[in-house]
Amino acid sequence: MIEQDLNAAGATPERLLARFGLQAFRPGQREAVQAALDGRDSLVVMPTGGGKSLCYQLPALAAQADPARPLVVVVSPLIALMSDQHARLEQAGVGAAMLASGQADGHNARALEAIESGGVALALAAPERFASQRFREALGTRRVVLFVVDEAHCVAEWGHDFRPDYLRLHAAIEALTRPGTGGRAGSDGGQAGDRPAVMAATATATPRVAEEIAARLGLREPVTVRSGFDRPNLTFDVVSLEGKGAVARKRATLLHALGGQDARPAIVYCGTRKDTEEVCELLRGEGMAAVAYHAGMSGGERQAAQSAFMGGEAEVVVATNAFGMGVDKADVRTVAHWALPTSLEAYYQEAGRGGRDGLPARALLLAARYDLGRLIKFNTGRDITVQDVRAYVARLRSGGADGETVELGHGEIDERGRVLLSIAERAGAAVLQPGSGGRLRVELTGRGSPRTAAQAIKAAKNRGWEAYRAIETFIASGMSCRRRQILDHFGDHEACAPRVRCCDVCEPDPDLVEASRAPLPGAGRARVRRSSAQASAGADREVPQTPLHPVDEGDFERLKIWRLGRSEGKPAFTVAGNAALEGILRARPASVDELIEVKGIGPAFCERHGESLLQVLAELG
Ligand code: ADP
Ligand code: MG
Repeated sequence: MIEQDLNAAGATPERLLARFGLQAFRPGQREAVQAALDGRDSLVVMPTGGGKSLCYQLPALAAQADPARPLVVVVSPLIALMSDQHARLEQAGVGAAMLASGQADGHNARALEAIESGGVALALAAPERFASQRFREALGTRRVVLFVVDEAHCVAEWGHDFRPDYLRLHAAIEALTRPGTGGRAGSDGGQAGDRPAVMAATATATPRVAEEIAARLGLREPVTVRSGFDRPNLTFDVVSLEGKGAVARKRATLLHALGGQDARPAIVYCGTRKDTEEVCELLRGEGMAAVAYHAGMSGGERQAAQSAFMGGEAEVVVATNAFGMGVDKADVRTVAHWALPTSLEAYYQEAGRGGRDGLPARALLLAARYDLGRLIKFNTGRDITVQDVRAYVARLRSGGADGETVELGHGEIDERGRVLLSIAERAGAAVLQPGSGGRLRVELTGRGSPRTAAQAIKAAKNRGWEAYRAIETFIASGMSCRRRQILDHFGDHEACAPRVRCCDVCEPDPDLVEASRAPLPGAGRARVRRSSAQASAGADREVPQTPLHPVDEGDFERLKIWRLGRSEGKPAFTVAGNAALEGILRARPASVDELIEVKGIGPAFCERHGESLLQVLAELG
């Protein structure tokens, strides 16, 4: 009888690890290796550098030792990554073949022969290789026990790294039945065991991407491993800034945090280009060598800012989230967020750019409640309708040569396009396939269900609000460890073990707290209430303390009537209490940003009633 799993060769994760010459597993690795040995599908989510490769290198080592000569297939998108892998495997005594474009003459042909002759235990291939019949046939001659999709988020069309060639993999996996096996070992009856176990590995932690990976690769009851997200050398400080003088105190806190001896190099993330420039000026005013970086600058200017920061001439880069992709500066000591990021995933990714060298670094989130208004606007601004999807499909159709299929290159689909396309696909109006030269082939079916489209839109919208709520909860939860909250959000349940001060909840930094509360310099200056235009542009928002003067009875009645209309049969106070209505009349907010600052008014209220209320206020004059 032919053995069905790598387990049968007597391999255990520990023995394989020792044979590989390593001492101990990192979190999650053992579980992932065990899943592969058991022939189970798995989704391995670990941050970059977490050690995902080992999770399939060890099973390949087991395959190498197995007299039945099973094969492990690894798909990887970048030749540089592949060559590196190849070298490491050979070093560990695993025979590996590598197939990619741009290889020397005859290289790929020899690799195919090595696969067919059983001379290698592992085949590393670029995703576009699966377009080749010859390659698929070569794999078909072997018993493939494990099919690894590295950088698996490339199959998710929502991501920036989307690679249409990854869409070939599901069919390629299904085509690889294991000759001579009756099914997967174990108690699951084997009805699903006729194709190799699949391991999908990625560093992208969003549940949305995980779902899409599982669906597009056809994972079957995958073992999910999520670990290694803890960064023991990072301290997480969240400073809440509310109400009077919030912006001034935010400035003071930032200056304090960046002022220390070992606080720089630093990255300061802002939510708008304008803030980027203003904060950069602020830091320069204090004598810091700061540069701004945002998408509104020319390519040359951005390049100059980036190299100044990388080279050390600039100690601080003040940037929008356009900064960071591919930036690899190991000694960043502080990552400060001047504005709230749009999701906890984005926050952690950006904060995680600190302390890559393993030395202590601080992540500082300057959390001002008024900033939630910007996030709410960001979310509502992204609203799409079934009509938008229709229009997008029609535009694609008119652009296609035959009106039925279009090929789109990597740069041709922007963020909104990706969302629209994904909804069109779910609604059955478009079928996505890999095209030529890494392009995406979109087949327009001429059909599609508006109802399904509406459901997909709703789901996308809910996800946006979920991301928003996660951030809102994070900044509001001053009672539980910030590190724990983040790790739990990512589904990483390992115990956290910081090597530095953990966070503002576990152990507050008294100096930072004082800086965020200190009486403001220049407090004697006349403070003027800004116009709403200045306010929403991010200008100083110091508002003088207004004595609680009575509100206009007529206006109050108008608001109560409005409230009744919004309450949908429920008690009126479920919309807002009287005190909150009075507060609104005193503050007369002109925008959602201002509305959310009113005492008793929360984001949920703004989300549900904001627009409607602002309209009534405008009518009151
Ligand atoms: P990822 O693919 O998750 O970004 P890699 O697989 O490239 O990360 O691993 C990053 C580094 O960590 C590599 O140099 C690797 O050799 C090392 N590494 C991984 N696991 C272990 C371990 N258990 N013990 C020691 N070093 C490890
Ligand atoms: Mg990797």
